[in-house]
Amino acid sequence: MHDVMVPNVNIGLVGHVDHGKTTLVSGLTGVWTDRHSEEMKRGISIRLGYADATFYRCEKHEGGEGYSISPDCPVCGEKCAPFRTVSFVDAPGHETLMATMLSGSALMDGAMLVIAANEPCPQPQTKEHLMALELVGIKNIVIVQNKIDVVSPQDALKHYKQIKAFVKGTIAEDAPIIPVSAQKKINIGALIQALDTYIPAPERDPGATAQMLIARSFDINKPGSNWRDLKGGVIGGSLTQGAIKDGDDIEIRPGIQMQVENRTVWKPIITKVVSIHTGERKVAEATPGGLMAIGTKLDPAITKSDMLVGQVAGHVGELPEILDHLTFTVKLMDRVVGSGSELDITPLKHKEPLMLSVGTAVTVGVVTNTKKDQAEVVLKRPVCADVGARIAISRQVEGRWRLIGMGILAE
Ligand code: GDP
Ligand code: MG
Repeated sequence: MHDVMVPNVNIGLVGHVDHGKTTLVSGLTGVWTDRHSEEMKRGISIRLGYADATFYRCEKHEGGEGYSISPDCPVCGEKCAPFRTVSFVDAPGHETLMATMLSGSALMDGAMLVIAANEPCPQPQTKEHLMALELVGIKNIVIVQNKIDVVSPQDALKHYKQIKAFVKGTIAEDAPIIPVSAQKKINIGALIQALDTYIPAPERDPGATAQMLIARSFDINKPGSNWRDLKGGVIGGSLTQGAIKDGDDIEIRPGIQMQVENRTVWKPIITKVVSIHTGERKVAEATPGGLMAIGTKLDPAITKSDMLVGQVAGHVGELPEILDHLTFTVKLMDRVVGSGSELDITPLKHKEPLMLSVGTAVTVGVVTNTKKDQAEVVLKRPVCADVGARIAISRQVEGRWRLIGMGILAE
């Protein structure tokens, strides 16, 4: 029997708060991704969660029946082989946490849009998250109609029709809609089958230079550990291209902020990889798809508390430029969708503050120049990005950052 494989695809969980994203990840992986004390207290996800699942299929059964998350076939009990390991990226659904959701969307090869059947569809972040998938260009979507255990079959059908009407004309128009109960584990086999069919691992270019988007960073030492046992800083995230091996010298950009003659400059960090983990597994090499943690020789003070989130890691001298202002083409949506009231989106204004998401980086900047479909923004914190990168654009609307459109980084 094979054991667990290395994940080769990242599947995001998006959707309105409380619709069951974290419960679904837990049902599929056995991991409760809300680990932070604040998350437990408030009962919502605040940071990006991640966990891996291995799927098994019993060849003796048709349809979704033979698919499961355990090697014992749910129908006949026979041992079956694993066929796929995936990583889940659990995004927060609360409206104030759109920046984190957008940061997570940079890691997703596909997504499950989770919609609770016991509330009218769409709820505000159901819409805003689908819009984000559309803007970021995530085409492989499976819609999960969750909580079917608490609605009657008639109401589930009515809700299904609401979903159909809602996704008409969007990127998710042809996405399958799988009714499940994440909590009661109903119809999970059919969901796994749909993930297998609709969210394949993307084609990768094996010759590309390594680019890892950092989504989390940690100090893994227990308070008060002996300095002799001190472990170096850890960065977590996903490679969008290329490979990183244990022992490689890596660079992290933009790096650390420093003052040089009264000016703020960013100095890239250079360090060595001392370990690579995907899930619980130690591996010699990381490749795209799947979330991983890289142990480094860095002072853990540099990586603690997610300090390096939004930065990019790769081989020394091979990363994109560090940019402190961005010029990009702009495509704005017609209407703000994330709040109850749907306001029209007006053109970008000179000197207007914007929140821009580039890769996993979220940065605030001020518009210094704007033409019909182009804008120039000076950033408070620089980003490391290539020409052609997608930029999700948010602006302040009624005191909150709201997603309003997207841009493509120009020369
Ligand atoms: P998230 O905000 O989308 O991550 O939602 P959570 O996974 O935290 O779930 C929100 C609440 O819905 C929790 O109280 C869950 O126990 C509950 N819940 C999640 N899935 C189901 C389900 O399939 N059926 C029922 N009845 N409750 C569910
Ligand atoms: Mg959650």
